Amino acid sequence: MPIRQLPPNVAAQIAAGEVVERPASVAKELLENALDAGATRVSVSVSGGGVSEIRVSDDGSGIPADELALAFRRHATSKLATASDLETVGTLGFRGEALPSIAAVARVTCTTRPADADTGARIDLRYGNLVAEEPVGCPVGTTVQVVELFGNVPARRRFLRSPAAETARIQEVVTRYALACPDVRFTLTADGREQVNTTGNGSLQDVILSLYGRDTASRMLPVSANEGEMAVSGYTGAPDLNRHNRSYITLLVNRRWVYHRSIMYAIEQAYRGTLPDRRYPLAVINLVLPPADVDVNSHPTKREVRFRNENRIFSAVQRAVSDALVAHAPVRQVSRSFAVTGETYSETHRSSGYPSAQPWAGRSQSPPSDTLALPTTGLAPTGGSLRDVLTGLRVVGQIRQTYIVAEGDQGMYLVDQHAAHERVVYDRIRSGSERRETVAQPLLAPTPVELNLARTATLQDYAEMLAEYGFQLEPFGGDAWLVRAVPAALTARNNPDPAAALVNLLDAVSVEQVVMEREDALAATIACHGAVRAGDRLSTDEMDALLRQLESTENPHNCPHGRPTVIHFTEYQLEREFGRR
Ligand code: ADP
Ligand code: MG
Repeated sequence: MPIRQLPPNVAAQIAAGEVVERPASVAKELLENALDAGATRVSVSVSGGGVSEIRVSDDGSGIPADELALAFRRHATSKLATASDLETVGTLGFRGEALPSIAAVARVTCTTRPADADTGARIDLRYGNLVAEEPVGCPVGTTVQVVELFGNVPARRRFLRSPAAETARIQEVVTRYALACPDVRFTLTADGREQVNTTGNGSLQDVILSLYGRDTASRMLPVSANEGEMAVSGYTGAPDLNRHNRSYITLLVNRRWVYHRSIMYAIEQAYRGTLPDRRYPLAVINLVLPPADVDVNSHPTKREVRFRNENRIFSAVQRAVSDALVAHAPVRQVSRSFAVTGETYSETHRSSGYPSAQPWAGRSQSPPSDTLALPTTGLAPTGGSLRDVLTGLRVVGQIRQTYIVAEGDQGMYLVDQHAAHERVVYDRIRSGSERRETVAQPLLAPTPVELNLARTATLQDYAEMLAEYGFQLEPFGGDAWLVRAVPAALTARNNPDPAAALVNLLDAVSVEQVVMEREDALAATIACHGAVRAGDRLSTDEMDALLRQLESTENPHNCPHGRPTVIHFTEYQLEREFGRR
C-alpha cells in the first residue's frame, strides 16, 4: 500500500483508543470536566455497564453557545494557552482531547448553559460527525450524554467485561473523585439503582462514611502533616481494618486521583509490622504540592504522574501515615469472648443476671466470633492514643512472669513484657545508631567463639553493621573469632555469655532478614536478645518503668516483629462477660 494521510475520522478513532479505553474512561473524563468547571453537584447515571448510556450532569460554568462545537474539536481547550502553562496547570484536564475522543466512538449529546446566558445550547454528534446544533432552554451547567459507546468499534466492545464489571469500574471512578472532592455532591445511579450519594458538605470523613459505611469510617485515623510547600492529609485505617488488595488505597495529588506505585508503597510501609501478610490498608491520602513539582503530562489518561522530588514525598507520606497510626490507633482489643468456662450468658438471660448453660460456640445469640458488638460513640476511635493510655496505667501485677496486668481508665490492660521491652530496646538501638553513638560495652575478658561456615558468612555479611551496633570482633585463627565488646543493649539484661549471644544473633538475623530490611533485622535481633524474657520476674517498679519507657517509643503498639505489646479488655467487655450488661 502506498503511504497516505488517514482521513480525519479514522485518525480520530485511533487517537480515541488511547483516551477512551472503556466506559469508565468516559466517566472519568466527563467527571474531570465537571470538576474543572467548578461544579458543586455532579450526577452520573449509567445503564448497561456504560455501553448503553453514560450521562454526567453538573452545575458548573457551562459552555458558551458559540464555543460548543469547538469543544468537540481535537486539541481545543480553555485550560491552557501556551506550552509553559503546562508547567503550572491546576486543572484536571488540559489536553483538549476528551470530548472529541468520546464523540469519535459514540453518539454524544451535550446540553449546556453558562450562568450569564439566557438560553442554553445543544449539540448532537454521531461517531465524530456533527448532526445538529441548536439553542435550547436548560438549567445552568452542562449535561453530556453518551450512548452506544463503541458502536462503530466492534473490536473494542469485544474486549469489555460484563456490564456488571464495567459498572463497577465506573463506580470506582466516581468513588475516588468523591473522595478527592468532599465539597462536591456526587450521585451515581446505575440501571436505576443509586450506588453513590455523598453530601458535598466538605467533610472527607462524611464522604468515607457514605461510601464505606459507619464501621469503616469509625476506624479511619486522621492524617495531617505539612512539610515545606507540601501538605499530606486524609484518613488512614486502623491496622485491624485491612483488605486483601490495594484497591482501597486512594492516592490524590492536587485533587487528581493517580496511580503511583512508589508512593502507594510508602503508605504500606507505614504499616510495616502491623498488618498480617499480604493484607493492605485502607487509606485516602491527599498530597497537595506546587503544580510545578508534579508532571501530570506523562500518561494519555493522566492516571500517572511524576514527581520532581519523589524521595522527599515518599518519606513525608510514610512519616505522616505512621504518625497517624501511632497517635490515633486504638489499643488492640480482645475480639473474642474470653469467658473462662467457654460458656457465656445468653442475650435473654444477661439482663436478668441469670446464667444460661449454653455453650459459647456456634450459638445464634453469640455475636460474630471475630468481632464483639461494641457500642460505637460517633466516628472518633474510642479511647485516647496508646501513649495517653500508658501514661494513666497502674500496675496490678505480673502473671506467669510473662504478662503485666494493669488497670486504666478504660478497663484492664495486659502487656507482653518481652514484646514491650523489645520495642524499648529496639528504639534505643536505632536512635543510637542514627546518632552514630558508640554503644559498645567492652568485655572484661574477651571471649573466643567458634563459628561454622554459615555463621561466618552471616558475620562477614553484617560485619560493618555489627561494628556499628557495638560488636568488636577479631579473627582469632581458623574458624575462631574473639569477641572484645558487645552492644550495651545486650549486657543490660545480664547476658552472661557474649559468645552465645553472638551465635544466637547470627542465627536469628539470617532468619529475620528474609522478612525485614537488613538493618532492621539486626536491630530487632539485638533488641530481642537484650529484652526481658517471658519467665523473668519483674518488680512493680521495674514493670512501672517499662510502661513509662514504652510510652515514649516511636511505635508503642508493636514489637519490632509486629506482635502487639498491649491488649485491652474494655470495661464493657468485662461487664458483658460477667453478665452485668
Ligand atoms: P480539556 O478538559 O482537556 O480542556 P475536553 O475535551 O475534556 O478537554 O474539553 C474541552 C473543553 O470543553 C474544556 O476545555 C472546557 O472549556 C469545555 N468543557 C468540557 N466539559 C465541560 C463542562 N462539564 N463544563 C464546562 N465546560 C466544559
Ligand atoms: Mg477534559
